[in-house]
Amino acid sequence: MKRFFAAIMAPLIAVQPLSALDNEEQIWSIAIHGGAGVIKRENLSPEREAAIRAKLDEALAKGSEILKSGGASMDAITAAIMVLEDDPNFNAGKGAVFTWDGKNELDTSIMDGKTRNAGAAAGVQYTKNPILLARAVMDNSRHVLLSGAGADQFSLEQGLEQVDPQYFYTQSRFDSLQRYKAAQIKRDAANAAAKASLKDIQTDALGRAYRFGTVGAVAVDKDGNIAAGTSTGGTTGKRWGRIGDSPIIGAGTYADNRSCGISATGTGEYFIRLAVAQEICSRLRHRFRREIDKAQLTVPKDAEGNYTYIVHAREFELSDKQVQEEADAVIAELGDIGGDGGIIYVTPVGQSGFSFNTEGMYRARSDSNGTKVIAIYGDE
Ligand code: ASP
Repeated sequence: MKRFFAAIMAPLIAVQPLSALDNEEQIWSIAIHGGAGVIKRENLSPEREAAIRAKLDEALAKGSEILKSGGASMDAITAAIMVLEDDPNFNAGKGAVFTWDGKNELDTSIMDGKTRNAGAAAGVQYTKNPILLARAVMDNSRHVLLSGAGADQFSLEQGLEQVDPQYFYTQSRFDSLQRYKAAQIKRDAANAAAKASLKDIQTDALGRAYRFGTVGAVAVDKDGNIAAGTSTGGTTGKRWGRIGDSPIIGAGTYADNRSCGISATGTGEYFIRLAVAQEICSRLRHRFRREIDKAQLTVPKDAEGNYTYIVHAREFELSDKQVQEEADAVIAELGDIGGDGGIIYVTPVGQSGFSFNTEGMYRARSDSNGTKVIAIYGDE
């Protein structure tokens, strides 16, 4: 009997993915970010810090409410991201950084962990809430990534709210562009531009980040569905149609019900090179498999040498520590190639967290267990 049990269960274990896990406890979980970079206490006025914390709180509450009442993770992350896109303190939507030519070119992406369907747009200039465009690309087109004038055209045809590009203008971001250009022109004159690392040219003489404030959200809903999204203006002074990681599925955004949801922020080139978001999800999927196999080895065998109990994927989950380890390992690798930034994550069983190698990261998370965290500095 035992042998029969083992014989039919063993193949089941092999094919039963984590996505099959019934969310019996009706858990939900959401994490959001508003960018990672050089955030020092001395560079942030108390008023600005309070405004940023309040906005993170508002965005978190918006997403949490939707999840609490049984809504979809896709709706929760969209709502949370829109709150941050509308706020001039963040580098997404209003408040986006400027390109070298003094324009705001917005990048965004979204992904559904159930179907692994995705949508993204790069270099758009007229959509008030770019995350809605990413979603429209996912839901209403055959494509995954649209760019430039074509993406703007699609946005218009979709009936999304269009704004005069002047809407995105903020004085502080414009000033930041002027400082950036002056520093770059000086580097060019000294013939040092090519040698300067991307990371270094993203901070000014006072150590203030030029590109700071990309936004993103990841969530798992009561049905166990994961969604992830990211929205940004990119990096200050970007040229030649530069596209960062934020609209690249697998680099800046990824969602897979079997493993995790990720949204990234940082110097995008490094995130693209490591496919950071997808890499973390892959690692979690493989770690899950390895840990189940290890757990099975600890089960006693009967007289005939068969396991007395089969560890089933449905009753197994990675520990919080194991999940964090995998995220941290990828961010460490990012650091090894010279990259800076961070990610937020959620897992199918509602674990959530952050991993970053910068001084700070605007971040927040909450879940059905009553967890609520809002933080800025690395030591919080
Ligand atoms: N990742 C974004 C980019 O490279 C910028 C950021 O996250 O601050 O475009």
